[in-house]
Amino acid sequence: MTDNSPSGALERLFRLQELLLEAHTKAERRNRTPEHLVHVEAAWQDFRRKRHEVASRREQAEVRKNELDEQVAGYAEQLKKSEAKRKAVKGQHEYTALLTEVDHAQREIRTREDELLVVEETLSQARADEEALAATSGEEEAGYEEQMAEWRAEQAKLSAEIEVAEQKAAEIRVKIEKRLLATFDRIAKMRSGVAVARVAMVGPQTAACSSCNVRLRPQLLSDLRLSREILQCESCKRILFWDGSGLP
Ligand SMILES: [Zn+2]
Repeated sequence: MTDNSPSGALERLFRLQELLLEAHTKAERRNRTPEHLVHVEAAWQDFRRKRHEVASRREQAEVRKNELDEQVAGYAEQLKKSEAKRKAVKGQHEYTALLTEVDHAQREIRTREDELLVVEETLSQARADEEALAATSGEEEAGYEEQMAEWRAEQAKLSAEIEVAEQKAAEIRVKIEKRLLATFDRIAKMRSGVAVARVAMVGPQTAACSSCNVRLRPQLLSDLRLSREILQCESCKRILFWDGSGLP
């Protein structure tokens, strides 16, 4: 691949495209769970989601329980202070005020204690659920990994092949002229990775772009024959690649 003529450059470009398409196709395959494993994957994700959900339910209950415990302790402290003031009270007015204070603190404590009963119930249920899920977790994961083992091996193989293709593509890229490479990348981006189209003979003197099937003007075909420059399909703008076959 040291040929610097347009046809040599085109061959490199075409090879680059094949490698990039191969890497892309294999990456898509590697990233898509096969049909027969979709339910295995879904069940595993469901199990993980459940564990996560239970853990966050337990955490929320713990946080709320701590808040309520602190608030109850605060009001109990207040009650103690009110009780201590009782002896020093002078007159009916102060006494009524003190009773109101005590009454208020007691009511606040009761409300929180009611909520605490509910929160503690939630907490112990969440802890039980969490333990039950933790007990089967190892088994669930082992089963999942076992069913996935073959696919994991396939994924690893695809990854290795992708790496090889990308490596080869990188080696070719450095051998291609920058402007041509920029044109290639721009068209590839717009045309799902297919920037170079083979020229196909569709009649004795008639050729077409194999990507968009539009026929080439005789002049364009004749220019291609002489292959002095890089030519693009006038319809889809892909770079035309003719390997010399099919022409009379
Ligand atoms: Zn075309």
